[in-house]
Amino acid sequence: MLPLFHYPRLKEKLAYIPLGDFPTPVEKLERLGKKIGAGGLFSKRDDLSGKFYGGNKVRKLEFLLGQVRRKNAGEVLTFGFAGSNHALAMAIYAKDVGLRSISMLLRQPNAGYVRRNLLMGYYAGAELRHYPDMFSILWGSIFELVRHRFRSGRFPAVIPPGGSSPRGVIGFINAAFELREQVETGQIPEPDRVYVALGTMGTAAGLALGLKAAGLKTQVVPVRVVDRKCADAKSLARLFNKVNMYVSGQDHSFPRIKYSEADTGIRHDYFGEGYALFTRAGREAVALMEECEGIKLEGTYTGKALACLIDDVRKNQHRGQVILFWNTYNSRDLSRVTAGVDYRCLPRDFHRYFEEEIQPLDPDHIKTTERIRRPG
Ligand SMILES: *Cc1c(COP(=O)(O)O)cnc(C)c1O
Repeated sequence: MLPLFHYPRLKEKLAYIPLGDFPTPVEKLERLGKKIGAGGLFSKRDDLSGKFYGGNKVRKLEFLLGQVRRKNAGEVLTFGFAGSNHALAMAIYAKDVGLRSISMLLRQPNAGYVRRNLLMGYYAGAELRHYPDMFSILWGSIFELVRHRFRSGRFPAVIPPGGSSPRGVIGFINAAFELREQVETGQIPEPDRVYVALGTMGTAAGLALGLKAAGLKTQVVPVRVVDRKCADAKSLARLFNKVNMYVSGQDHSFPRIKYSEADTGIRHDYFGEGYALFTRAGREAVALMEECEGIKLEGTYTGKALACLIDDVRKNQHRGQVILFWNTYNSRDLSRVTAGVDYRCLPRDFHRYFEEEIQPLDPDHIKTTERIRRPG
């Protein structure tokens, strides 16, 4: 049973479909810890949250798709950047539960994972649409909603970017209770700090709320990786409070927690030049993790979050503390599947991602471009 469902009213009321593989393991990062000088460095392996596809979005989808199914919708429409892990997770898991998905995708800087995610989304049967800017994605969404309404007789269920509606965020309240069980059973000492990338904020907000509700002392350290206007202290506090209201409204025994802008502690210095633009510190962090632990991260989210963690440790700010890196990135290998997909089958707008150069993830800029996929 989900740890959160110890609140009996939540179990009764919240629609939920098991999709992933939980609890995800907690593991000591022995070699990385030694390398950077952190004695108590651990990772929460949400990268293994699904047998076929992991990452942080699976937890949200268990509640989001639960609700979609309860409402009997046949299609889901969601949003993201071209390489969106959320849109891909949606495509994969929606298909699993018999729903068609539509991915409304916004232009972004190119990277290897963008190619992989697009090929995989296509393979999973998602309808992929590409838009150059916010204005066109807005009108495009209205158009697609109406078009699908006429085609199938019903509007698709609309899921916000990153799946960070209150329902989606519940997945991360549960994650905090899951962590508490792992602390109680001695799998990990109670962490002092947990580092996590801050995108649509659902992961950080859910964890912050869940950790407090679960009575853990663990502080969330959200590392901003999106534009400031999408993620700041005020909107994080607002999301926290909105989710808290929603959950305690469903079950009155769930605590109401006072939380304000001053509590958020967002780290802004690891963002760099823009969303999905890799930073030197981020690329170095990715390389260190791979070298020490053999775990693959990426440069848009996890690299930047880990860069912040490493910096803090090296500045000796948290000596002797137990530090948890929440790994939010899928680590299941999709290459066998994507190797069989020709990018030219995708809608024309996406071909650029396969024909233009990708950003190097290598910290030394040497081994630059992956070979462009040109089958046949
Ligand atoms: C979506 C995502 C995040 C950010 O999670 P939010 O809940 O959107 O803040 C972090 N890491 C990875 C790999 C992601 O795909």
